Amino acid sequence: MVRRVSGAAKAQGGAARAGRARAVVIGAGFGGLSMAIRLQSLGFDTTVVEALDQAGGRAYVRRVDGYTFDMGPTVITVPHFIEELFALQRDAPALDAPDFPAATLADDARVRAGLTSGPATAPYCTIRPILPFYRIYFDDGTWFDYDGDPESTRRQIAAISPDDLAGYERFHRDAEAIFRRGFLELGYTCFEDVPSMLAVAADLFALDSVRTLFSFTSRYFQSDKLRQVFSFETLLVGGNPLRVPAIYAMIHFVEKVWGIHYVMGGTGQLVAGFVQKFKDLGGTLLLKAPVAEILVTDGAGQTPRTRLGRRHARGVRLADGRLLAAELVVSNADYATTYGKLIAPEHRFWNSDLRIQALRYSMSLVVIYFGFTDDPTRPLDLRHHNIILGPRYEGLLTEIFEKLSLADDFSQYLHIPTLTDPSMAPPGHHAAYTLIPVPHNGSGLDWSVIGEAFVDKVLRFLDARGYIPGLMDRITTRSFITPDYFEGHLQSWLGNAFGVEPVLTQSAFFRPHNRSEDIAGLYLVGASAQPGAGTPSVMMSAKMTARLVAEDYAAQIAAQTTDPRPQ
Ligand SMILES: Cc1cc2nc3c(=O)[nH]c(=O)nc-3n(C[C@H](O)[C@H](O)[C@H](O)COP(=O)(O)OP(=O)(O)OC[C@H]3O[C@@H](n4cnc5c(N)ncnc54)[C@H](O)[C@@H]3O)c2cc1C
Repeated sequence: MVRRVSGAAKAQGGAARAGRARAVVIGAGFGGLSMAIRLQSLGFDTTVVEALDQAGGRAYVRRVDGYTFDMGPTVITVPHFIEELFALQRDAPALDAPDFPAATLADDARVRAGLTSGPATAPYCTIRPILPFYRIYFDDGTWFDYDGDPESTRRQIAAISPDDLAGYERFHRDAEAIFRRGFLELGYTCFEDVPSMLAVAADLFALDSVRTLFSFTSRYFQSDKLRQVFSFETLLVGGNPLRVPAIYAMIHFVEKVWGIHYVMGGTGQLVAGFVQKFKDLGGTLLLKAPVAEILVTDGAGQTPRTRLGRRHARGVRLADGRLLAAELVVSNADYATTYGKLIAPEHRFWNSDLRIQALRYSMSLVVIYFGFTDDPTRPLDLRHHNIILGPRYEGLLTEIFEKLSLADDFSQYLHIPTLTDPSMAPPGHHAAYTLIPVPHNGSGLDWSVIGEAFVDKVLRFLDARGYIPGLMDRITTRSFITPDYFEGHLQSWLGNAFGVEPVLTQSAFFRPHNRSEDIAGLYLVGASAQPGAGTPSVMMSAKMTARLVAEDYAAQIAAQTTDPRPQ
């Protein structure tokens, strides 16, 4: 059945056609907000509809008893992507500007000098570099401070495994080659057809970047510890180091070149900045407005670019029955939710229920948010970002990603923002979260039964191992989320935390396309789309999708962006 747009919605759309075209963005995660800012700069009248009562998506902020807990992303990278968004103006899309301005590549010493955010970012938020990037604890209590500085890296490698020093030099050289080709040159490529994929396949094979990351890393390092240090980072974007292609070795360089950063006041301040920027450009944000359906017509009417004579997205129906008409719709929701729940099966061929079920989805997480009293007699010997690895690496990853079972051991990422920014907790207290990768809900685990005991076990571990001595007596608040939060609250298929899993067979052309193959005027942005998960990637995803929109709606945009009317 083709849903007909109601008279009221048609009238809305008609009014828009007389002036500016309308766009609806479903979801106010970083991907959706970045896209919404870009659509405003393209001259569209954009409405973002978000199911929750706050923008941010995975970057939602939980405030409890004077504590501020960023619920999701905490490691901010590539600050010039942020600067680029804050610099955009209404009717001035600037999509031809270089993706990687030479100045941002000039000298990685700028990271250490604290030159992180630019003039356009400053009115919205303050971004600071964090060093070391991560302290990585091994199960025997030793650690590695990873800061992207080759000299300090060499010193620490020499202490752990001197025989691996030569391997590090080779790793550094080869990872840089992957970064240059895979990120700087191809990072913004929309892989929409087989030729686009074949055009780069030879290069990717030549760089040896299609083998798995762990196997790639293992070629350079004999030490198990170093193999972990140089492969764990993909877990922060939902990738299993044992399965992601080695092209992800680029993360090492992305961090080295642009550093790791923190937004003062927490990542929520960046979300607030994006919302403000979007509003400054004239956009509209509707909260508590879950979308129940993407409206699709049979292709009649204004179709800017119709391939295959397809159907066309015409707006959305909210759960409360309201209809919002639009010339184009961008979904920032999970891939499986977008196609599987919001679009009737008869409108889908490439994105069928079969494909949705056949894809692999990233792992999920348990995240524990907790506050505790500072104790000057027991100062914390931790860093802002701490990776606490368990006794097993490959075995644990296999349990999480392949066997979908909950192991007795665990690894975790412990975040203590109050070490940088005391404003995140009441005076004399620390705010923290610890994140533990667990299988997605395909596991059948009942988190309502096992959740509390699991959380207890993790917190007791932090106390007993001396990471936070006396934690169980010092703790003042605690709450947690499980895969059920991702599935129920964030509408993620199987409770995945990072979208479609980044494996070779789901990368580039094989990853969901940013321009729908089934429905004209429908686009995807965010973690499930190309290039993938992580805050810089979803900002890239927005720019890639904006370029597609610019191509498809060129005539309208030309009319809109020369429109001299005031906002
Ligand atoms: C705990 C955690 C820690 C992380 N840490 C980092 C990190 O340190 N650094 C980093 O770079 N990345 C990190 N990531 C990954 C990163 O946060 C995500 O990849 C990124 O934020 C995803 O953004 P998004 O816009 O694609 O989606 P989301 O943030 O998930 O936003 C999607 C939005 O769509 C809304 N939505 C869904 N369905 C509907 C509907 N039907 N109607 C209306 N709205 C709907 C949702 O409510 C949500 O707000 C982390 C992720 C998690 C979960």
